[in-house]
Amino acid sequence: MELNQRKTPMHMTPDEFRKLGHHLVDELAMYLDALPDLPITQGKTVEQIREALGQKGLPGDGSGFEEMWRGLVQKLVDNSLHNGHPRFLGYIMGSPSPLGALGDLLAAMINPNMGGWNLTPIASEIEVQTVKWLAELIGYPTDCGGLLVSGGAMANYTAFLAARRQQNTESIRRSGMRGIDQELTVYCSEGTHTWVQKACDLFGHGTNSIRWIPTDENQRVIASDLEARIKGDKEKGMKPFLVIGTAGTVSTGGIDPLDELADICDKYDLWFHVDGAYGAPAACVPELKDMFSGMERADSIALDPHKWLYAPIEAGCVLVRSPQHLLNAYSYRPPYYHFDEESGINYYEYGFQNSRGFRALKVWLNLQKAGLKGYQEMILQDVRLAEKLAAIIREEPELELKSQNLSIVNFRFVPDPEKYGKFNDEALNELNEKLMSQAQAGGKAYFTNAFINGQFLLRTCIVNFRTDSGDIRAVADIVLEKGRTLIE
Ligand SMILES: *Cc1c(COP(=O)(O)O)cnc(C)c1O
Repeated sequence: MELNQRKTPMHMTPDEFRKLGHHLVDELAMYLDALPDLPITQGKTVEQIREALGQKGLPGDGSGFEEMWRGLVQKLVDNSLHNGHPRFLGYIMGSPSPLGALGDLLAAMINPNMGGWNLTPIASEIEVQTVKWLAELIGYPTDCGGLLVSGGAMANYTAFLAARRQQNTESIRRSGMRGIDQELTVYCSEGTHTWVQKACDLFGHGTNSIRWIPTDENQRVIASDLEARIKGDKEKGMKPFLVIGTAGTVSTGGIDPLDELADICDKYDLWFHVDGAYGAPAACVPELKDMFSGMERADSIALDPHKWLYAPIEAGCVLVRSPQHLLNAYSYRPPYYHFDEESGINYYEYGFQNSRGFRALKVWLNLQKAGLKGYQEMILQDVRLAEKLAAIIREEPELELKSQNLSIVNFRFVPDPEKYGKFNDEALNELNEKLMSQAQAGGKAYFTNAFINGQFLLRTCIVNFRTDSGDIRAVADIVLEKGRTLIE
């Protein structure tokens, strides 16, 4: 075997790269051009998708670049759900910036391993700067600690363990949950995202340690109930350690009274975590800032650049008041890592991951491109569009508005009672669920649902810099048309 001047299947000459790369970029530019007119999804079955993919085993022989690339972009376009489409308003998924996609390409090519500073000199500094910029954006002290993670859930897990370490330092590290003699309890509203269940389950607390505190009609936690529960648990000998406030709940966009929660945490010496995965970026907007008052007092914050900062997936971020909190929870220093502590931050000591990707680049690029003012404008426009939709819903007799907070609107279709008689909740739930499924399959608008007080609601969330007021009107019209057809 001749190993001199090896030529392997992974080898791509600079010329081949240029040719293939240009071709890909051309095809993606065509995709961007076509995006507003594409069906958001074609609603294909698993069987159809598998057929499109082809079900063959691992190829024995490799193929040529051009051969495997042919038709691939088209295949992905035809068999994907396009969350960058102007009328994609489902779940909470940001429209991805093309700039961010180029950032991901660049990041992959340089391929810094973001675990240690000397493996990634400038990339690590870009992450440091990105974390600072994100803190500045949302009004958090910029001497905080923090790092980029895969998403909002991961940011919350990372903060959860920092909180636990702070309350109970050495015994859990050595003996696990057997090392403590008091049950650690966690407080959050009924509107909290499901990550808290996964955290309490997987980190050994058990889901029974979660105290679900009731909320008002906008899913804002009732602070007096929270305090009463904390007091009661302390009297029973438990050890409350963490209060989670949500800055923008998934279902309604409601923001907890964060200042009141911070006061309670001060009073009882508890860690105050804010889940701002959806809403936190809106704190940069002067017109919206007051709603987030108290967030700057949090011990930790989760935010999610792949939502309202329009970065391509994956990009989450956790911020903690002091970098030391992360080191306390995550740092081990094995003898085989000779990372100079003096040189710069070694991110493997600050979170779950060892090898890490250069997620910061796409976020950093977006922040640079838009600047503070650009984000203030884009986010406020998303909120104004939600308000516009709420106004349309108020004017349409067959649409019933349930809530509008930040850029999330909940509503439902209610048939004209003069014509069709009165529908109860059960019948409305069935009708609206069908309506949503049909609208999704239709591919012209994509919205999802909330389920609140036994009512199935249609839910739109605008974290989409491509959406405009025409799209909003179109979504309302599609709901009306589908609703009327269904009832006929
Ligand atoms: C989206 C979201 C999460 C989960 O974030 P991922 O990026 O999907 O991991 C957690 N909390 C809230 C409030 C969210 O909106």
